[in-house]
Amino acid sequence: MPDGASSGTAPLLSVDRLTVEYPVAGRTLSAVADVSLVVGRGETLGLVGESGCGKSTLGRAVLQLRRPTGGKVVFDGTELTELDGEALRLMRRRLQLIFQDPIASLNPRRCIGDIVAEPLIIIGISDRVERERRVRDVLSAVGLDPELVWRRLPHEFSGGQCQRVCIARALILEPELVICDEPVSALDVSIRAQILNLLEEMKRRYGLTLLFIAHDLAVVKAVSDRIAVMYLGRLCEVGPTERLFARPAHPYTALLLEAIPVPDPTIAPATNVAAGEPPSPLDPPSGCRFRTRCPRADSVCAEKVPVLRPISSGQVVACHHPLS
Ligand code: ADP
Ligand code: MG
Repeated sequence: MPDGASSGTAPLLSVDRLTVEYPVAGRTLSAVADVSLVVGRGETLGLVGESGCGKSTLGRAVLQLRRPTGGKVVFDGTELTELDGEALRLMRRRLQLIFQDPIASLNPRRCIGDIVAEPLIIIGISDRVERERRVRDVLSAVGLDPELVWRRLPHEFSGGQCQRVCIARALILEPELVICDEPVSALDVSIRAQILNLLEEMKRRYGLTLLFIAHDLAVVKAVSDRIAVMYLGRLCEVGPTERLFARPAHPYTALLLEAIPVPDPTIAPATNVAAGEPPSPLDPPSGCRFRTRCPRADSVCAEKVPVLRPISSGQVVACHHPLS
């Protein structure tokens, strides 16, 4: 696999040539196209790209919440695309998803204690004392006082506190892989760092592996061992975080880096990531999908789809004219 063993640890998750298409008004929308990546046990892989590039679709396809059109998803040696029914339900306990909008993903009519206990009830833990002990433990772990929050409703809490509840609910079954889909994007800038720190702490405490999705490179930088950059359904580049920031190989990665806001307000930030809107995934460009916005594109880029190939240690790029 092109970006395979580079994570340095045995892969917990391997995604192989994953394709997800949506039928839209008689046409085919190519949301994820031929994506291969691995996540090593204990690793955090950041997945970045502009809104609409297929990040959430990829995350949902890993969990089989959206069935892929093609390709494989292997979790700890088991092919998930072939599982259904009870076997898939059992496997899903080991993979959890944390969403972007914490308030919307909590049932507004149930108290926090019940929300966090619900996964335990679903898997059939009938001993109430045991359930309450586990809920108390996980609420404390995410920095909430069980006695204070137990009987309260989600609307009594801020977005950041609701995300803590969502994290508690995701962790209560002690999953191995957590897919964090833009977990801080909807939160106030002032509390983003707290939630990122909490995820890091939970990762250590529970020995988690994370697939961390964001549209913002600055956010994934803080948490990722490696970063995968996606554009219009395809992977552009995958590499160790330091390397990708220091020596981006794909022109799109370079443009994303330029677009990171500068902390000094007297320095004007780079304007748009790349001129114009991304093309429609209903009608993606031939060859390299980024070519219509790429400063380096030529006729080869219109003809041939670039495949991921190694460019430096642990770094792979899908580009006919990578930056050297
Ligand atoms: P991201 O998470 O990177 O913003 P998404 O995975 O949500 O991207 O979407 C990828 C593409 O698939 C977008 O063009 C989006 O409009 C489309 N899409 C997402 N969900 C559906 C759906 N259920 N039906 C049809 N198109 C969808
Ligand atoms: Mg999304």
